[in-house]
Amino acid sequence: MPDPRSPHAFATDQVQAGYAATAAHSPAVPAIHQSNAFEFPSLSEARARFALRSEGDIYSRAANPTVAVFEERIAALEGGIAAAGVASGQAAVALALLALARAGDHIVAANQLYGGTVDLLGDTFAGWGIDVTFVDQDDADAWTAGVRPETKAFFAESVTNPLAQVLDTRLVADLAHAAGVPLVIDNTVATPYLQRVKDLGADISVHSATKFLGGHGSALGGAVVDLGTFDFGADPDRFPQLSEPYSRVRGGSLVDRFGAKAYITLVKTKYSHDLGPSLSAFNAFQLLQGLETLDLRMARHSASALAVARFLAAHPAVARVHHPGLEPSPWHTLALRHLPRGAASVFSFELHSTGDAESDFAQVERFISQLRVVKLVANIGDARSLVAHPASMTHSHMTPSQLADSGIAWTTVRLSIGLEDPADIVDDLDTALAVVAPAPASAPSVIPTASASR
Ligand SMILES: *Cc1c(COP(=O)(O)O)cnc(C)c1O
Repeated sequence: MPDPRSPHAFATDQVQAGYAATAAHSPAVPAIHQSNAFEFPSLSEARARFALRSEGDIYSRAANPTVAVFEERIAALEGGIAAAGVASGQAAVALALLALARAGDHIVAANQLYGGTVDLLGDTFAGWGIDVTFVDQDDADAWTAGVRPETKAFFAESVTNPLAQVLDTRLVADLAHAAGVPLVIDNTVATPYLQRVKDLGADISVHSATKFLGGHGSALGGAVVDLGTFDFGADPDRFPQLSEPYSRVRGGSLVDRFGAKAYITLVKTKYSHDLGPSLSAFNAFQLLQGLETLDLRMARHSASALAVARFLAAHPAVARVHHPGLEPSPWHTLALRHLPRGAASVFSFELHSTGDAESDFAQVERFISQLRVVKLVANIGDARSLVAHPASMTHSHMTPSQLADSGIAWTTVRLSIGLEDPADIVDDLDTALAVVAPAPASAPSVIPTASASR
């Protein structure tokens, strides 16, 4: 827990929060507690731990000491009160929302979400009777018009992927609160270094720690962080899972028993416990190694990405760059306000379209085949610079109209700018762009056709 008596700066928390060297050998670095289960000193203590009357380890699916350090550290960096570490970002999104919305309930979510989240909400949740209304995240009226009596949450990403649209987190938080529901933010692309979503009104943040938090592309993980701002007891009828007696723990409701930590206790003791997507001690250790350098890495990622975006914007073979750090971006003013330490290092650009999806694909393939420093990989937030082609990769199952709604063309190329020397990244892109045709006299901007989608 962040200690309220010693408020440390971000860079101190990312290295120290959640850990004090008190174990037998006092290792300076948190140990990997690679044990499935933990020995109880007595049966009475075992009984107390099972009843959640005593805090202590039982079994690593429910809690693990290495994972607990990761949880406290990410909670400290987000300014939250507690976190649940889970096996992936996908598990974090699923658990965060399942603890709020049950069959018959409803969620209002942004249109501009990570593809895996679109599948989860639009397909899996729909199959479970949880209805989701998708809205354009920049349309304030659409968020409010989407609200129903059974709405339990608003959900959006602070910075979207692949087009790096910046959410007006403050505005959407105010709309959520006017509707009486919490705002859940996927803060994966921004990380708490670029945006403390709590300061902008969000109530719960979720992360794919797989990306920038770990930062080295070597461990999957996720986190749900309760920012401690939403009063789940204020409207007990809306959240009976928190306000009515909880059968697993005697002594009343989760709100009665755990107060401000009722929500995260539900995430851990019911959804993580029952569905089982626990974070391994080894992955938690690797994610902690990454977290220790988060501010340094994010500053480098962001500065290099802006330099690359500026280079691309000036290149004749590039039709358009979607980067909120550039002035023509519709999200530039918002980025200056909500991302003052730098904008996203995951962004996209477009080559000039030939007007035909197959020729566009061939053009992008020629370009990508020339890259040497930037690798063709379906991931973001890695130390390495990565390139992807959304229309044929991450978004390949979308219909042409969904692609068009998402602003993705066959010429759209996504980059995740890594930690290499930015001059080498720019040189690599420059060399590869040399094989791409510059703008035709009048380049038509074409929406892909059904026959061209694969
Ligand atoms: C990658 C990603 C996820 C899913 O995370 P995994 O760790 O791959 O399960 C969720 N949200 C966003 C924004 C992501 O980029």
